Amino acid sequence: MKPDLSTRCIHAGEPHDPQGSPHAPLYTTTTFRFPSTAALLDVVEGRKPGALYTRYGLNPTIQALEDKLAAIEGAEAALAFASGMAAESALFLAHGRKGIVCLGDAYGGTLELLAGQLPELDIPTRLLLGSELGELEAILIQGAGLVFFETPTNPALELFDIAALAELAHAHGALVAVDNTFASPVNQNPLALGADFAVHSATKYLGGHSDLSAGALMGSRELVMQVWNWRKNLGQTIAPEIASQLARSLRTLTVRVQRQNETAMRIAQAMQTHPGIERVLYPGLPDFPGHDLACRQMRGFGGMLTLEIKGGVEAATRVADALRLFALAPSLGGVESLVTQPCTTTHHGLTPEERARRGISDAMLRLSVGLEDADDLIADLNQALGATQEQP
Ligand code: PLP
Repeated sequence: MKPDLSTRCIHAGEPHDPQGSPHAPLYTTTTFRFPSTAALLDVVEGRKPGALYTRYGLNPTIQALEDKLAAIEGAEAALAFASGMAAESALFLAHGRKGIVCLGDAYGGTLELLAGQLPELDIPTRLLLGSELGELEAILIQGAGLVFFETPTNPALELFDIAALAELAHAHGALVAVDNTFASPVNQNPLALGADFAVHSATKYLGGHSDLSAGALMGSRELVMQVWNWRKNLGQTIAPEIASQLARSLRTLTVRVQRQNETAMRIAQAMQTHPGIERVLYPGLPDFPGHDLACRQMRGFGGMLTLEIKGGVEAATRVADALRLFALAPSLGGVESLVTQPCTTTHHGLTPEERARRGISDAMLRLSVGLEDADDLIADLNQALGATQEQP
C-alpha cells in the first residue's frame, strides 16, 4: 500500500545513514572522490547512480531531496532548481521549442519569459485567457508542443480543468505542465489528473517559511530527464544547503497547508458578509464560479484568497496599509500571512485596461494565509476595513 502523503513527506528521500541520522545528511562539497577511474566512469557514463559534481545535481543531499519531491507529487522523478523560474525556464527550453500555449493568468515573471524572452529565441508562444479556451485546439493543430497553466491562478483564483485539458492536448501530441504552486501537492496532484509535469516555485508552500528560493519539476523519468542537461548547463541546480533546508520544510508540509486551508476558509466565510467587501474569491465558497471543479480536482481549497474591497483602488490601498498582522509583501505560502494589491505588485506592469481584460480589479487584495490564529487574522481584517470606512 502506498503510504499517505504525510508519511511520504517525512520518510521519502531519507536514505539510510551509517551514522544513524534520521535525515539525509548535508553534503556541502562541490565534488566527490572515487576509488578508481573505473568507478568514476561508472557514474559519469550513467551505469551506476552516485555523487559526482554538485552543479550536475549529483550530490547526495540534492538527490535525497529529489526523491522526496517525486514522492510528494506521486511522480517517477523530480529535479530541484535554484528557483521556480529556473524550473520553468528549463522546462520551456527542453519541451517547449515547438511552441508553448499559456492559459489564463500566470505569475508575472512567467508571462515576461513567455511573451518577451522566448520569442526572441524564435520559440513561438501564445497567451490565452480562460475566456479564449475555444482557440486552444486550433493552436494545438498548428503544432504547439506544450500547454502550460496555473490552477488556481493568481490573483483571481480561476480554475482550469486539468484532466480535460490533458486529454485535449494529448490528442494533438502536446504535453501539459501545471504550475501547482498555489494549490501545493497537499491540495492537488496534476500528474494524477493526467498532466505530464507539475512545476513548483518551492519558494512558496514547499519551503513554507519565506526563507529560501527553490523550484521543482516532477513527471515521468523519461520526460524529466530530458530537462536534466538544460539545468546542468544553464547552472540552475539548487544549492545543497538550500536542498537540506527545503527537505526540512517538506516534512511539515501537510500540517502547514491543512491548517492554512482551514484558516483561509474561515476568513473567506467571515469576509463574505462584511459590508466593506464587494466580493470574496475563494474556491471553497459554494458560490465561487469554479467551486464544482475545485471539488472534483482539489482535496483542499488552499491558503490563497482574494478580496475585492468596496470603494475602489484607494480604499484597497488604505486597507492594505492598515493591516497589522498581514504583512504587505509580494510572496505567498509562508507561515506568516501576507497581503498584496495585484495592481501595485504582481500585475503592476500591465495597463489598467489589460488588468480589466484579465478580470483583475484594482480594488483586489490578495491574501496569503499563514499559520496565525484565524480569529486574530479576522480581527486584523476587521480593524483595517473599519479604519478605512472611517475615512471621509
Ligand atoms: N509560479 C508562481 C505561481 C509564482 O507565484 C512564482 C513567484 O511568485 C513563480 C512561479 C516563480 O517562482 P520563484 O520566485 O521561486 O522563481
